[in-house]
Amino acid sequence: MNQAEFNALCVAPSCTLREALLRLNTMARGFLMVLGEDRRLLRTLTDGDLRRARLAGLSDAALVLELPAQPPKVVNEDATAAVVLELMDRHQIDHVPVLNAQDHPVDVVLRRELSQRIWLSSPHLGEEETAFVEEAFRTNWIAPLGPHVDAFERELAEHVDVGHAAALSSGTAAIHLGLLLLGVQPGDTVFCSSLTFVASCNPILYCNALPVFIDSEPGSWNMSPQALERAFESARRKNCMPRCVVLVNLYGQSADMDALLPICERYNVPVLEDAAESLGARYKGRASGSFGHLAVYSFNGNKIITTSGGGMLVSSDAALIARARKLSTQAREAALHYEHVGVGFNYRMSNVLAGIGRGQLRVLDERVRQRRRVFERYQEALADIPTVRWMPEPTGYLSTRWLSCFALEGEGAAAQCNVLMRLMERHSIEVRPVWKPMHLQPLFRNAPYFPHADGVDVSRQLFATGLCLPSGSNLSEVQQDRVIAHLRRALSSSVDTRALA
Ligand SMILES: *Cc1c(COP(=O)(O)O)cnc(C)c1O
Repeated sequence: MNQAEFNALCVAPSCTLREALLRLNTMARGFLMVLGEDRRLLRTLTDGDLRRARLAGLSDAALVLELPAQPPKVVNEDATAAVVLELMDRHQIDHVPVLNAQDHPVDVVLRRELSQRIWLSSPHLGEEETAFVEEAFRTNWIAPLGPHVDAFERELAEHVDVGHAAALSSGTAAIHLGLLLLGVQPGDTVFCSSLTFVASCNPILYCNALPVFIDSEPGSWNMSPQALERAFESARRKNCMPRCVVLVNLYGQSADMDALLPICERYNVPVLEDAAESLGARYKGRASGSFGHLAVYSFNGNKIITTSGGGMLVSSDAALIARARKLSTQAREAALHYEHVGVGFNYRMSNVLAGIGRGQLRVLDERVRQRRRVFERYQEALADIPTVRWMPEPTGYLSTRWLSCFALEGEGAAAQCNVLMRLMERHSIEVRPVWKPMHLQPLFRNAPYFPHADGVDVSRQLFATGLCLPSGSNLSEVQQDRVIAHLRRALSSSVDTRALA
């Protein structure tokens, strides 16, 4: 509900029962809030309350304040959806006012909202997945190999215009193999974007290597070329060059490859592109994930297309991908008996899941359009709120808007983010902060870090003031309007204190 509706639900104790009944009828929410002079909530008023007043002999002209007192069931601003729902069930009510620290009602939670949670990014199946999965069943290809695995690899490689692809059990597994293929060994250093999901760098630890984290730049939220340059200079001085750079393409958008890749080339260090979040994105006409020596995609349940769980390692180097396939199947040598020279892993994708992937790949371009549409609707609906700064999409980039993200500007932005997140949570809308940067994680507290500039920590600032909104390609306009209405109320000034009946 918007602010005007919220205000219209508030009446003064001096209003008559008839006025209250009329207001209930026009508002059609089933309840009103009765506020005192000081805007404190005196009680709620439902159809049932008015019916009982009638039966008790009160006339239409009686005043609301003549009704028997009834302390309202309320929650404070910290209440989660679960707490609100418990209160509703206990008292058999369908709406709960939310009070601020001054006991003023600032919000109302409706039962209807709580039964329809809005997710950040949920799976969205197309028409063909079941047919592929049924084919896998019918032909008894229920194994981590088979025709769907081969076809999914071919079709994905073609889609992103990269020569070769290996289908794996997860994006994390793909990063792990990528690091091994680039020769990462215990004690090596690996550069990695700090603003990312931990899966980008957990595999660095699997290799017993040492991550060095690189900040973001404000223009794309991805790796800062300035910070990368300084990290390389420092590594050269210490004679401790990284084995590779894990370059992350965040939230559906490529990093600035034209600025970053020449730096890596100059130092002769290969790039592992983490395109887990950016399948479908483009940079100056080329697919995100087609820039690194190796690149990784993820098909986890929350990604733009999904196999429920899965990943892909791609490269223009056929030999690298052939080695990835071998490493992912226990590094078995070409012999009838089981011969092993090196250590291997069980990282291959199942043929059943590859069937889902083939169906999903057919709707990828549509999913990109749908996610971008979701983003545009948010942008249009909040265009008049000057403190909202959307994740930029520089010229020449095509973001999938896998997640619609913004950072708040101005004084108190971080506190406002927290208020906003709690508000969304009690309305059962999943909103998340921007990734907590790796250099701020206890897991990596000893890792070196290179900020964008002296005293300018871009990723830390984005974490403090940035939020990700529900962005699924299957988000309905009605659901999205629900998100927008709450956002607008939270981001515009708090309750309008004038409009009392
Ligand atoms: C999801 C994700 C991964 C890991 O993919 P999984 O398939 O979940 O293992 C890696 N990097 C980033 C940036 C991701 O968002």
